[in-house]
Amino acid sequence: MKKNIVVAIDGPAGVGKSSVSFQVAKHFDYMLIDTGAMYRSVALKAFNLGIENNTPEILELSKSLNFSFKIENNKNMVFVNGEDVSTLIRTETVSKMATDVAKNGDLRKILVEKQQRLADNCSVVMEGRDIGTVVFPNAEVKIFLSATPEVKAERRFKELKEKDPTVTFKSIFEAMVLRDKQDSERAESPLKKADDALEIDTSDKTIDEVISNVLSVINSRIS
Ligand code: C5P
Repeated sequence: MKKNIVVAIDGPAGVGKSSVSFQVAKHFDYMLIDTGAMYRSVALKAFNLGIENNTPEILELSKSLNFSFKIENNKNMVFVNGEDVSTLIRTETVSKMATDVAKNGDLRKILVEKQQRLADNCSVVMEGRDIGTVVFPNAEVKIFLSATPEVKAERRFKELKEKDPTVTFKSIFEAMVLRDKQDSERAESPLKKADDALEIDTSDKTIDEVISNVLSVINSRIS
């Protein structure tokens, strides 16, 4: 039987993780699992139901959510208990809530277990913050993407400006620096490069350059 492959792609916000993961998943026809979308979905559902973080209810809620992903119309769609939440989870408010929810160690255990189960029967590209360190420490390929804070904020600013012309570079930069600090300094599974991950600094690279770099790394590891 063909061996299932796990490609772990970690890094902070704004390094191009989603675009790179998407193209890699398409290229190899692997399932694309966006773990950030899972933390975002829990945050969104908890908010809608009036459930606070750090309560037994949020753990029950997390257990009850069934996640699935599907590439459609050149987009990775996210479904929670069958509902398409792909757009709803992409607001700045949900970003902030997700970062808070992600500090909850018991909740992380529940989502990590679900992430591992999603890769039970197929090859996957899994993107997040702790994939190479915690979720799949034995992943066949581990990539850690990085970039300077200014470059990351500029990329996110360009993306968000199209949806909301009132956003400013300063507000995006500050929110991003805070989110990265919280992700890197939290007690539970902080954002960090796995010792055996290959780090690619994307600051001076185009997205196509990063993708071709990652594809050749994967090809050399799995052939
Ligand atoms: O990647 P994305 O920006 O969608 O992730 C939203 C938040 O979810 C991150 O800021 C981080 O706090 C959390 N997260 C995490 N572990 C992951 C993926 C995301 O803690 N594996």
